[in-house]
Amino acid sequence: MDDCIFCKIAAGEIPSNRIYEDERVLAFYDAAPQAPVHFLVIPKEHIGSTNELDNSNSSIVSHIFEVIVKIAKHLDLDNGYRIVNNCGDDGGQTVGHLHFHVLAKRRLAWPPG
Ligand code: C5P
Repeated sequence: MDDCIFCKIAAGEIPSNRIYEDERVLAFYDAAPQAPVHFLVIPKEHIGSTNELDNSNSSIVSHIFEVIVKIAKHLDLDNGYRIVNNCGDDGGQTVGHLHFHVLAKRRLAWPPG
């Protein structure tokens, strides 16, 4: 998508602090971290949100979770972490490209605000 900031990050047109990349996904540190470790994992293919997942594209989600586990081991997140997906306005989504936040290295409150 031409005007999608995460498509531009995936294409290398906007710089990001990359952690991991393969042919389907990219992981990079969040520009406004909400925890000592805060990164995002996105599909390189443009998918607007969780609400656009269906049988044709949902396998990306299991791949993203496998990548998260790999990164968590690499970053020694042995004490745990939180995976967050904000979907739509009420969910707090601000960037219209599917992404999963991973937050770690501090004790996180529940429920979220
Ligand atoms: O879930 P939500 O859509 O609100 O999250 C978007 C996230 O993308 C924010 O945490 C924001 O800091 C991050 N972001 C980024 N780099 C950008 C634009 C947004 O890390 N260039």
